[in-house]
Order: sequence, then C-alpha cells, then structure tokens
Amino acid sequence: MTRKSAGRISDELAALDARTRYLTPIFGSEASDVAMPDKKINRKPIEPRIASEMIREYLSIEGNATQNLATFCQTYMEPAATQLMAENLEKNAIDKDEYPMTADLENRCVDIIGSLWNADPEEKPMGTSTVGSSEACMLGGLAMLFRWKKLADAAGVDRNAKRPNLVISSGYQVCWEKFCRYWEIDMRLVPIDEGHLSLNMDTVMNSVDDYTIGVVAILGITYTGKYDDVCTLDKLVGSYNRNHPSLPIRIHVDGASGGMIAPFLEPDLKWDFRLENVWSISTSGHKYGLVYPGVGWVIWRSKEALPEDLIFWVSYLGGEEATIAINFSRSASQIVGQYYMLMRNGFDGYKEIHQRTIDVARYMADEIGKMGLFEMLEKAERVPIVCWRLRKDANVPWTLYDLEDRLRMHGWMVPAYPMPENMRDVDVQRLVLRQDFSMPLAMLCIREMKKQIEVLNGARVVLAGGAGDDKVRNGFDHSGR
Ligand SMILES: *Cc1c(COP(=O)(O)O)cnc(C)c1O
Repeated sequence: MTRKSAGRISDELAALDARTRYLTPIFGSEASDVAMPDKKINRKPIEPRIASEMIREYLSIEGNATQNLATFCQTYMEPAATQLMAENLEKNAIDKDEYPMTADLENRCVDIIGSLWNADPEEKPMGTSTVGSSEACMLGGLAMLFRWKKLADAAGVDRNAKRPNLVISSGYQVCWEKFCRYWEIDMRLVPIDEGHLSLNMDTVMNSVDDYTIGVVAILGITYTGKYDDVCTLDKLVGSYNRNHPSLPIRIHVDGASGGMIAPFLEPDLKWDFRLENVWSISTSGHKYGLVYPGVGWVIWRSKEALPEDLIFWVSYLGGEEATIAINFSRSASQIVGQYYMLMRNGFDGYKEIHQRTIDVARYMADEIGKMGLFEMLEKAERVPIVCWRLRKDANVPWTLYDLEDRLRMHGWMVPAYPMPENMRDVDVQRLVLRQDFSMPLAMLCIREMKKQIEVLNGARVVLAGGAGDDKVRNGFDHSGR
C-alpha cells in the first residue's frame, strides 16, 4: 500500500466519521435532514439515535394515549411490568417445547382466569391466550359452529337448506360481523331500542331455530357499557333446550371489557360458568386485564364444549400440548405481562384499581349530568363508561360531533357516534376510563368540556352578531363545517 492511497482511505474514513460522529447533534446531522422513507426503503443505514428520534418526533404529534377516552385498551403499565415484558420480547409464545416455562405461565393464566369465571376443574375446562378478544371470539364462534354441525347432522337437519345463524344484540362489536362473514353465517340481530340498551330478553328467543349455532351475550356492550342479562338468558335458553333436547343452544359470553371487571366488583353476579348454558367466555387481557395490547383469552367450560377438530397438538417437553389459537407466532411478552399483573395485583389489587377507575368515571358522569344539557344513558354503573345524548329540549346550536371536535382541538378524545341499527338517528357521546386516568385529570377534562360548551354556545352569537363580536377571534365558525 502506498502512502498516498493509505492517506486517501484515512481521509475517507475521517469524512465518514465526521458525518456520523457521535458528537454531531441529532438535528444537526445530515440524516435528520432527509425525508423519512415512504413507499421505498432508503439505501443507506441511519444511526439508531437519529432514526429513533426522527420516528419519535413523527409519532409525537398524534394524540396522547392518556387523553384517549375512546379506548378500553390499556395505556399504562408500571415500569417493572414493561421491563419484564421487554426482557421477553424475543420469545415466541408458540415454541412451547423451547420455552416451557413461558408455556407454563400461559397455562397458569388460563387456570386463574377460568377460576375467576367460576369454571369447575372437574369439568376439565380448556382455554388459550389469543392476540385479543377478536381472535378469542372467533374461536368461541368456531366451537359453536363445529358443535352445531355435529348436532345438526345427528338430528337429521338438512345443513344445505339454509345458512346457520348466530343470535346477538345489535350492539355487537365488529369482530362478530367478521366471524359471520368469514364463515357464511347469518347474523340474527336482536335490535336494541330505547327501552333495551342491551340484549332484549323479551324477543331474543324469537330468533332461535334449528339453524342457530349459539347466542352471544355481551358483558360490556361497546356502545353503552351495559351488561346483557346473562342469567335471564341462561334460563330462557335452558327452557328452550328442554324442548329441543337434540339441538341444544349454548351461550358464548363476549366479556371483552366486563369479563375482567365483574369477577372483582360484582362477584355475586351470575354471568359466567355458574350458569349451565354458558359454554365459553372470552375477554381482552389488554382491556381490564390491565396489559398493553395484544392479549386476549378464551376459555371453554369443559372438554365437550371444545370440539376436538379445533385442537392441534404440538410437541412439548417430550409429550404433546394442545394449541387452539388461530395465530401461530407472536411474542410471549404479553403473556408474561398478564401473569405479572395477576400475580402482582392479586384479587384485591384488581378490585381497588377497577373501583377507583369507576369512582372517577362516576364523578365525571355526575358533572356531565349537572350541565343540564344531556340525558345520561350510562353512568359507569358496572364498567368505567359514561355515555350520554343531547337532551331533546337542550335547544343548543351544536351537536355532539361539534363538541367532540372542540375537545379534540384541546387534546381530549371523546368520540360521538350514532347508535346501531334501529336507533341510528340517536347520536351519543361516550368516554371510557382506565386506571391511569386520575381524578385531577377528570377535573381538568370536565373543566375543558364546560369551556368548550360555552364556546359552542357562543358560536351562534358569531353568526347572529356577525363580525366585531369577541368570539370571532377564536376563529370558530359553526356554519363552515
Ligand atoms: C373490544 C371488544 C372486542 C374486540 O376486542 P379486541 O381485544 O380489540 O380484539 C370484542 N367485543 C367487545 C364487546 C369489545 O368491547
């Protein structure tokens, strides 16, 4: 190597070094000056501190999760939990043979949650973790479909004559629509109405026939937070079954939110495996199971409830272990997180967290009720959900959608939406609280709501009074939307 060429190489290295030197401030770097890759991968690598900061900034302008009152999904876990989860990100939950201790924790979660739902170990309950309630509901639905096919064949029902059907309240979550569409099942909706904001017990059984694979009860209707009356449904289904012994109907409870609240706050409420026709229950671990998204759980009460066809066997510790989930690979960290939450909180911890969250939600419900403009549809009676509509005599020049927009401008996400089928002309606004929404935040949110209502009320003055009015300065024009 000549001196000259060696010099050139070291010059180049020095130049390279200067470009990427650690001393270069992140936002003084060349990389921070180029567009973030979009549609095509970039050719050159970018230093981690620069790439991560650019992405962090990019994400930072979307809403703040704590102020997102639209979601049931957890927006807080304590540092010890997130650290433990981060330490297990690389483990694949499906590798049960390779990670037997992780598999063991998953089984423990199934048993613990099953016991919260009063499953009887004598009946040999079975269950699995899932990505969330959607996968869990899909599995619950599939088990109903497979059981029905067998029973229908045995009973001599012509399965080709009609599509099977599933009976559910019109306040269902979209995962049930997916399930029915994927598997070509008729969704028999029991409409909710002003007098029945949950499954209508007077009419539900009218929808049931020989082609019904099952009835879904919802614990925490997403629209309003109401619980379906599973206990009454169980009685109705029980008497139907006595008259139809060859084609009995069973209940799946979609307890996405309520499934991890009711056991702690209303242990005497019978909605779970204490009812003989409740054959499967699903929940979202990432809602009131208090884990970050995505983990869910589905449990069947007995071996009979879960058709063999839905069970696959993988090798495990020299033997075999059942896998039931639809997804194959995913990180084990959510399962570890769920086990941590159960162990760390215990029964009393969950109860305290949920009770406190509900107390804050009830405070907000009271305050919103006191504003005199709204008819309260749900005041956090059972889950921390508050839901209201404008009073018919409110006589205000704005809608709930305007209020949603105004709150959004100030960071608060409180969605307004129309009620489902049969009540489409009714608009409601809903807020969902989680553990990290404390009383001081609730007070701030209420204060902002009052302020924005005043601004909205003033908007009419802008239109009527025209330019020159004080309110013009805030740039809000009600008519321009
Ligand atoms: C949230 C929810 C679902 C879907 O749950 P994911 O965990 O988000 O998949 C299903 N049913 C009900 C009643 C829900 O509230």
